[in-house]
Amino acid sequence: MATEPALLLTNIKQLVTLRGRTGPRRGHELNDLGILEDAAVLCAGGKIVSVGAMKEAAHDPWIKKSKKKLEEIDCSGKVVLPGFIDSHTHLIFAGPRLIDFEKRVAGASYEEIAEAGGGIRSSIAGVRKASVKELAAKALAALNQMAAQGTTTVEAKSGYGLSAEAELKSLEAVAEAARRWPGTVVPTLLGAHVVPPEFKGKPEKYVREVAEKMIPQAARKKLAQFVDVFCDRGALTLEDTERIFAAAQQHGLGVRAHLCQLTASQVWPLLRFKPASLDHMDRVGEEDITQLAKRETVVTLLPGANYFLGLKQYPDARRLIDAGVPVALATDYNPGTSPTTSMPFVLSLACTQMRMTPAEAIAAATINGAHALRLAGCKGSLEPGKDADLAIFDVGDFREIPYWVAPGRCWATMLSGQLTNLNRGSLSA
Ligand SMILES: [Zn+2]
Repeated sequence: MATEPALLLTNIKQLVTLRGRTGPRRGHELNDLGILEDAAVLCAGGKIVSVGAMKEAAHDPWIKKSKKKLEEIDCSGKVVLPGFIDSHTHLIFAGPRLIDFEKRVAGASYEEIAEAGGGIRSSIAGVRKASVKELAAKALAALNQMAAQGTTTVEAKSGYGLSAEAELKSLEAVAEAARRWPGTVVPTLLGAHVVPPEFKGKPEKYVREVAEKMIPQAARKKLAQFVDVFCDRGALTLEDTERIFAAAQQHGLGVRAHLCQLTASQVWPLLRFKPASLDHMDRVGEEDITQLAKRETVVTLLPGANYFLGLKQYPDARRLIDAGVPVALATDYNPGTSPTTSMPFVLSLACTQMRMTPAEAIAAATINGAHALRLAGCKGSLEPGKDADLAIFDVGDFREIPYWVAPGRCWATMLSGQLTNLNRGSLSA
């Protein structure tokens, strides 16, 4: 890192800093993007050194003091913002679920899809058969696609192995892909995705497998930072979730959950575990909203799943934001219900289907995503000392980021100080 030149991004038309607040953003705070016009950002050693007006940038005392080679990147006419934090992805799977896709389009039920050989069972079979190397290669390809669209930090879940061996293998694949990607990957154990076929009718036995085998092993091998549970109809119960959260805490891991996607459920019994994030939340009750508005737990909305399943109903972002609940946005990248790597597309859905403002969508996808992963101390806003994770969009106004639908306009991405220009070829060309 020390031999790399310092990078000075100059002539930025709009610099979206999101600076100057602590804690996850709520209510009107989501609209305060801290925009600087005609600005510059100086990065060195993987960190942001300074952020400011263009006319001051060339005289930054750091530049005079340091003998580092300085490379200038002209960002005329462009928007620079913190790299997106995709705080909910099922990164590890073996292949697309095309039977589901075709059958669902034709109107088949969940059960009919499963009978035809689709559904989560097909993903389980694929992951159990695959090697770490194969899974890691697929994960890395997806991470690169994400980076090409402005994402610099990705939460990556296991959850299609559903045996101690296959879940650990999935987390090893996450680690292997993370080693080869310059961005940041946050690994999550989702052993409690559904009860696998071998444990049919014996869910408590499977919960014990997760709590007593998978969690201790993942913690000991340092393969996971969080434990996630799919708490919903056809998956795990609230009691199962409490048991698994208790085991996660015992082993020093953070907790998060999939909740209220298919059916309404009480949220408050889980709040004592201080979850970093509760995700989906399409059907959350009024009492729980009041509780969540008082806490640091982020509610992560995943409209990609609603879109792909062809649902008319989307998470009620307005109700949550207006009540003061901190919300984040993520892709939910997965083969069954949200096969997209694109945060700009998710932002577009948030605006058009959930009536979030473009500013709210950007804050939810950056600083609040960082809070959802407990990384806000080093990511999610552009401030001196934070990680040099930036997205550069070839647009003159931040509102164009959710405006231009598929493909997006990401021009370059800086991951831990490393500039990649996947959409434009080499910078020196
Ligand atoms: Zn999910």
